[in-house]
Amino acid sequence: MTSRINKLQSYMDANYIDAMLITSPKHVYYLTGFATNPHERLLALLLPKGEEAILLVPALDFAEAQTESSVSKIYTHSDTDNAFEILSTLLPSGINNLGVEKEDLTVRRFESICDAVSASNFVDIGLPLREMRVIKTPDEIVRMKHAVHIVEEVLRAGVAKVKPGVTEIEIVAELEYQMKKLGAQGPSFDTMVLSGPKSALPHGKPDQRKVKEGELLLFDLGVYADGYASDITRTFAVGEVSDEIKNIYGAVLNANLLAIEATRPDVTFGSLDRAARESIEAAGYGPYFNHRLGHGLGMDIHEYPSIHGRNEERLLEGMIFTIEPGIYVPSVGGVRIEDDVLVTSDGVEVLTSFPKHLTVIG
Ligand code: MN
Ligand code: MN
Repeated sequence: MTSRINKLQSYMDANYIDAMLITSPKHVYYLTGFATNPHERLLALLLPKGEEAILLVPALDFAEAQTESSVSKIYTHSDTDNAFEILSTLLPSGINNLGVEKEDLTVRRFESICDAVSASNFVDIGLPLREMRVIKTPDEIVRMKHAVHIVEEVLRAGVAKVKPGVTEIEIVAELEYQMKKLGAQGPSFDTMVLSGPKSALPHGKPDQRKVKEGELLLFDLGVYADGYASDITRTFAVGEVSDEIKNIYGAVLNANLLAIEATRPDVTFGSLDRAARESIEAAGYGPYFNHRLGHGLGMDIHEYPSIHGRNEERLLEGMIFTIEPGIYVPSVGGVRIEDDVLVTSDGVEVLTSFPKHLTVIG
């Protein structure tokens, strides 16, 4: 935690920033080890250049902040206080450039900060935070492997409940029950179970539709555990499916394996997307792969980087992202196979291990 704050101190030095004001709970957690949901209340980590970090927390969070955070200078505000007035007394005077998270600040909160602080410029500090977060530390990798382990157990339990006649939403309920039971904080996004032609909707909504023999059943789910997300998709056959569906499945699996094979330090994200896309095009399904290959994964379910064909940034050891090619043929069905991968010094470690061959269930 302290080393992360030190990195921001160096960034402030190099970029003429006088102080940083961090208010997103995720970043406060990332930088101090203190996790809370303050709802609409102000939670702020203040980093004045060259000085000790200050935490301003809602009074009801004080005890936990003291125990969990690496910061020892902790101030509080109660529900009857004006939190921004207290904030103004904690910031050093004569701030020219104040670093803030432009992605996360609402306009209303920004106006309150402007009233409280006499900074002349607001500088975005998204970049240094993003660059730190994209490389996972050994501790973060352990947490993410744990989140993957839980979600794969959840998926196994959910698949066991599938039989013709059960509804998509009943399977979702079982999956989310298992998440908590197996030790997750909860789902990392809305759990998706899509049957038959609905599997061709990459962002479809589970409902009362019943699982039917001879159709596909797509599961896309993830959990949060210890603050970190997992994300997996597997597509199953309920009973015997058509040759066309088997072809589609084979093409997606091939694309998934090719993209994983291409994953190693120094290659571009674009090259991974192209490896998958070209193989799907060669199989004749190019127009039906209508989204990017994947996305960064960590404290957020979708985070930097975006793995698409025009991203010429290069992979670095310690990055974790998803590889999730899909083919979606309207009224026939869709197949997506999604893995979470870690870039290692000489290649890739696939964190998800759930079998990928076409499996008949139900
Ligand atoms: Mn997913
Ligand atoms: Mn995903």
